[in-house]
Amino acid sequence: MPEVIDCDECDGLGFRVRRCVCVQGGDQLIVDGGSCADQAYADCRVCGGDGSVVEPCGRCGRAGRRRAQLVVTVVNLDTGAAASRRLLPGHLDPPAGAESIMRARDIVTELAGAVGVRGLRPSWGQCALDDAVYWLPRQWRTDLPARQRLALEAEALAQQEHVPWRVYVGRGTEAPPPPEPGRELARLCELADLLHLDLVVEARRQHDGAVWAIRYELPGGRMPLDPRAYARDLPSAVAATTFREALRGLDERGRAAPAHTVRPVGAATVRPVRAAGVPPRVDLDRLGRAVLADLADDAPGAQAVWRDGRWWHTPLRPAGSVEKLHERDTGQIVRYVRQRVRRAVEPPDPAWWGEPVAHRPCPDCRPGTRLRRCHCRLGAPGPDPQCSRCSGAGFAPSGLACFTCRDGGRIPAALTVTVTDLRRVRHEAWRPVAGEPAPVVGYQPNGTPVHQLGPHWRLAHHAAGFGVRPADLSRLDDDLPVDQDLLNGTVTVHDPVVEPARQHVERVGAGLPGARLFVLAATPAAPPLTDLLRLAHALDLAAVLTYCDHRLDAGDPTKVQGERWDLRLAARDAPIGVESPFCASVELAVARCVEYLDIHLLAAVPREPDRPVPAPQAAPSPPMADPTALLRRVGRHYAGQPVLVSFDRAGCRLWLAERGEVQPLARAATLDDAVSALRFPGGE
Ligand SMILES: [Zn+2]
Ligand SMILES: [Zn+2]
Ligand SMILES: [Zn+2]
Ligand SMILES: [Zn+2]
Repeated sequence: MPEVIDCDECDGLGFRVRRCVCVQGGDQLIVDGGSCADQAYADCRVCGGDGSVVEPCGRCGRAGRRRAQLVVTVVNLDTGAAASRRLLPGHLDPPAGAESIMRARDIVTELAGAVGVRGLRPSWGQCALDDAVYWLPRQWRTDLPARQRLALEAEALAQQEHVPWRVYVGRGTEAPPPPEPGRELARLCELADLLHLDLVVEARRQHDGAVWAIRYELPGGRMPLDPRAYARDLPSAVAATTFREALRGLDERGRAAPAHTVRPVGAATVRPVRAAGVPPRVDLDRLGRAVLADLADDAPGAQAVWRDGRWWHTPLRPAGSVEKLHERDTGQIVRYVRQRVRRAVEPPDPAWWGEPVAHRPCPDCRPGTRLRRCHCRLGAPGPDPQCSRCSGAGFAPSGLACFTCRDGGRIPAALTVTVTDLRRVRHEAWRPVAGEPAPVVGYQPNGTPVHQLGPHWRLAHHAAGFGVRPADLSRLDDDLPVDQDLLNGTVTVHDPVVEPARQHVERVGAGLPGARLFVLAATPAAPPLTDLLRLAHALDLAAVLTYCDHRLDAGDPTKVQGERWDLRLAARDAPIGVESPFCASVELAVARCVEYLDIHLLAAVPREPDRPVPAPQAAPSPPMADPTALLRRVGRHYAGQPVLVSFDRAGCRLWLAERGEVQPLARAATLDDAVSALRFPGGE
């Protein structure tokens, strides 16, 4: 059975010879981004001027062989039942007709029926129903000699080997219908009003048509050079743009935006979403037509900007070009020229703009150059005259963004902090006042004092107002948890001359778009932990939950506070390693596990191409008990050390992480039994 075939990319050798990248630009130091000269660069750092390089084959991961086997699995989360179909050469039933593409839909529908799934939940994994599972080449026919036919089928399966195991998760109930695009856009407008942002609907001319994009911007920001736009019309742009998608990259787009406070200034406000202004649904036809009308007469693009509760329309105009230089591994400098655009008509200043926020230039970079603060100045009073990178100048060229200002070039004197649960909002000005009390509450290991600012500087205080825990506060624009210094208003004061509050504002504010910090106050949208345990059971994997209780460090501003969690799915026989858990709540750990489900699944497939892909079958199983309370009890006993529990079809195992290794603690059918076996004093 040809379930493993030689890799065609490297002829089974595991490595291959390819043309070096330097040949694109030819034998010169500075090359054009779009050129293809097919001539080696004599001083090339990669190929030494040869024009060819030998590299491990990426397609087969140096194995020289590829697996000709795929598995599709459907799980019913409500019952824990799973069914799988293994696709092997000679065991395919490709669809009839000229198109010999097998779509996931056909296989999934059959498996879903077997396990009683009536609606898939698309947020679990990246697999879609319209994905091609494999496609057979034109030469393939049912009446070919078996050998030839199987070889073609094996090749078709091996082509898809990068996703060897496709898992679809569903429930016994219908999935909710996809939201209506007109309503979705109205919701994005409503959030723009709530958060005081612009919502930009943009069409850019491309070949003979237009590509559409929807995104949030700060008023007065620079037009992005390469907007991510793929949608061919407005409704598909809306369908492809979630709220998070629209926010993505806001910090970069808003870096040059003027910073203003949000009115009303000073007095903090909590108010519900304004009902007026935003219609319940946007008429996409009308909006789309209006934008396209502006695209007439050769404009490179056109926009509709939602600001202050209405749409403002403008064509875009060319605004010169910018040159971007970028260094290749070959040692060559690649030059790209990009066209800038600007709005023909700028909408009036937003009504929420308060006064401008003062700022000072960043001391750690030189705008418009690649000069950044040299490493020799870190933790030293001045540059090192002997430094090999800067010869004592204190600045050295760097390919990275400025660590202090993230290339914004400005350090603001005040911030606007916007906390929201996406229904309510609170805008607050953070402005240092001279002489503010900020007692020392701890010391860094090198002796630098850590101060704590007054309660209104501590983001943790906002959590209760939104009915969440401090651990539930995250950065709205990048999805990362709010750091501990922001939560608790603690500042490591490197420069005793500058007041702690000012250092805090400058550290937080540098690099923020328009000196604005956006914080989401909401529990992560995660299913119950027990759903993940059930999924692991259905897929015959292990669910490994890690917990660490940091109570012994309570109150020390330089140490992690509270508790930390991690959850991952892995092959049952995979070695258990010590992962430092970093999620501040079990809900966040579960949400992350669902988000990265595909990566966990891929890791659970054996690397060796001759070992089979998992193809689990499972009968309905009883629901599992939530293990968090018991694991917290174990973690409390071993405070400061991560404890791990793994659940699989064989039962439950408990470990303790000690000095970088895991020590087995107990093994039993259930966590309850495992914990009882530990015989903690005063067992509850
Ligand atoms: Zn080269
Ligand atoms: Zn290969
Ligand atoms: Zn230096
Ligand atoms: Zn800087």
